[in-house]
Amino acid sequence: MWRVRNAGGLTSTPTCSTRAHGSRCVLVRAAGGKRESARTSSLDTSPGVDKSSSGSGNGAFGSGGAEGLFASSGTDCVHKGERKGRPRIKDALTTPIVQTSTYWFEDTEELIEYQEGRYQSYEYGRYGNPTVRVCEEKIAELEKAEECLVSGSGMNTATTMLLALVPQHGHIITTTDCYRRTRQFIQTFLADKMNVTATVLDPSDLEGLERALKENDVTLYFSESPTNPYLRCIDVPTVSRLCRENGAISVVDGTFATPVNQKPLELGVDLVISSGTKYMAGHNDVLCGYIAGSKELVGQVKHMQNILGGVMDPHAGYLLLRGMKTLELRIARQNETAMRMALALQDHPRVKVVHYPGLPSHPDYENAKNQMRGYGGVVSFEVDGDLWQTAKVIDSVRLPYIAPSLGGVESLIEQPTVVSYWDQPAETRAEIGIKDSLIRYACGIENFEDLWADLKQALDGF
Ligand SMILES: *Cc1c(COP(=O)(O)O)cnc(C)c1O
Repeated sequence: MWRVRNAGGLTSTPTCSTRAHGSRCVLVRAAGGKRESARTSSLDTSPGVDKSSSGSGNGAFGSGGAEGLFASSGTDCVHKGERKGRPRIKDALTTPIVQTSTYWFEDTEELIEYQEGRYQSYEYGRYGNPTVRVCEEKIAELEKAEECLVSGSGMNTATTMLLALVPQHGHIITTTDCYRRTRQFIQTFLADKMNVTATVLDPSDLEGLERALKENDVTLYFSESPTNPYLRCIDVPTVSRLCRENGAISVVDGTFATPVNQKPLELGVDLVISSGTKYMAGHNDVLCGYIAGSKELVGQVKHMQNILGGVMDPHAGYLLLRGMKTLELRIARQNETAMRMALALQDHPRVKVVHYPGLPSHPDYENAKNQMRGYGGVVSFEVDGDLWQTAKVIDSVRLPYIAPSLGGVESLIEQPTVVSYWDQPAETRAEIGIKDSLIRYACGIENFEDLWADLKQALDGF
């Protein structure tokens, strides 16, 4: 028994359907003229696109009189077996990787219908891909967003968003303790080349925020919550309200939380952005980023991405989709491990301070408690030692890899001074608050007991 399923709700009777031997893949060719053929819409992310084989259009190669025109095996190698239709793999359990850079049209009429919005399809890989679109739909659901746009990296999402939304001579507000490359982009590009000015505030400085919003024509507020590496948490509902009252777009980078622990859009922000490289994909094997929010704002960013071109590859899309299936399980485990780690660290005699928003001693504990369902998998702490003694702790742990990044199944450990700020003089590091004795521990999904026994022996012995 073979089954045929139509993708876009448009039905047609198949004249020719073959089923691949031993698989559940159904190859469909739609009947009749192209207007009745079952076609996918760009909103229906089903990857199959049927092309009528019986029409007179360009897709008719391989049937009837056209055959004689193309008789060489060179042409056959390129075209045979593919012109009659595409597999509509509605029965595959996983979302297929649609590895194409472009999409074809039956004839000029169909192309014009597409251009005028009466026929929905994909056009070119920079403007959309069905595998990537499934990622966007899943994330939109998780973030409770109207629309989502995925891209090739978290930095690409952030820079594309800023270029799309901030005008020349505009003013933005950001917070200290923000991702270094974002800060660099604001300084070296927005400020130096577009004459954008910026107010930089402590994440908890709400009075400063109100003043900055009143004194400047602020386009956009941008902060992380929690931040890296001190896990500061802004008061998202209050910040969102103040921004809205003053006509500024509020944007929160929720990479460290993920929508499992925090849904910034529900808390009132206009846009949430994230490096999907971290928890969302979750396996330290792919780079990606996303932005989610209203159709209107995400649409503006998509328009810019169509020009700049930082799209995600469909293979990467598959890995992101696969990773997201276990997101909730991984986050639950990482929340628990990090909380236990923070408590254990607090009691260790060689640890001076533990930065974890789930600890009442953290400056933003109240904010975190009010707006997060879990406090995340990263713990930062300061040891009782100098740069090289701290390095000794790092070198003595055996389970986590010494590596930048976070959010994957493998635990990672780093000394921010060495990994992210080694090119900066000690005074600059002090200025931006990066202490030499600071360690960032990003919990993976290993057993807590093993991770703690390992970290404890390193702390006991330095
Ligand atoms: C990693 C990270 C980024 C950058 O994302 P990439 O995917 O590495 O480009 C931005 N913001 C935060 C908070 C991050 O952790």
